[in-house]
Amino acid sequence: MKNIVMLGAPGAGKGTQSALIAKEYSVPHISTGDILRMNIKQGTELGALAKSYIDKGALVPDEVVIGIVADRLAQPDALNGYVLDGFPRTIAQAEALDKVAKIDIAINIVVDTDIIVKRLSGRRVCVCGETCHVSSLNGSDVCPRCGKKLFIRDDDKPETVKARLEVYEKQTAPLIGYYENKGILVNIDAVGTIGEDFEKIKKVLE
Ligand code: AMP
Repeated sequence: MKNIVMLGAPGAGKGTQSALIAKEYSVPHISTGDILRMNIKQGTELGALAKSYIDKGALVPDEVVIGIVADRLAQPDALNGYVLDGFPRTIAQAEALDKVAKIDIAINIVVDTDIIVKRLSGRRVCVCGETCHVSSLNGSDVCPRCGKKLFIRDDDKPETVKARLEVYEKQTAPLIGYYENKGILVNIDAVGTIGEDFEKIKKVLE
């Protein structure tokens, strides 16, 4: 299986599609956002540091996330491919990644900005890992998968969403050109349902 990088603005559906890829091809789904949030929940030193950036919609410093990913990719389950979700987010991170890994394909999920804003502002998440949108909940506030109460990620609040989108444009969008220059970029127009978009991704991977 391939070593995959997922690109796309916050809310483009990287996490959802990464989870589907991981399941379909039995590879680990490595999300730096999830790792950082887990550290925040567990009250680690790393979590405290990360929280101060995440709550502002800013990026956690490169050296911190690069260290996390290098350790994670050295685990045995990452030897036969993986899907990296939310990393790299800067050119410096991409260059550091190239020193420790060989990326086969970068999948860029393309979604209009107005859709992104709607998605992020209506996103609800659960401790079990489920993510859904208010529009699909029929007024309910519990997780359709496990029944626990859903909550809004702190960084999905409107002011923070704006900051995250600015950070994306400035620091992360240049990665599209970075992987295009390497000849490994594939753009996926995410205009369909989750399932339809995933079919497009599968075609690219097979
Ligand atoms: P995500 O769940 O991928 O949207 O990440 C949530 C937040 O975690 C981001 O807004 C950043 O503050 C932080 N974060 C996640 N991945 C990275 C990364 N590769 N570099 C810097 N900060 C990150």
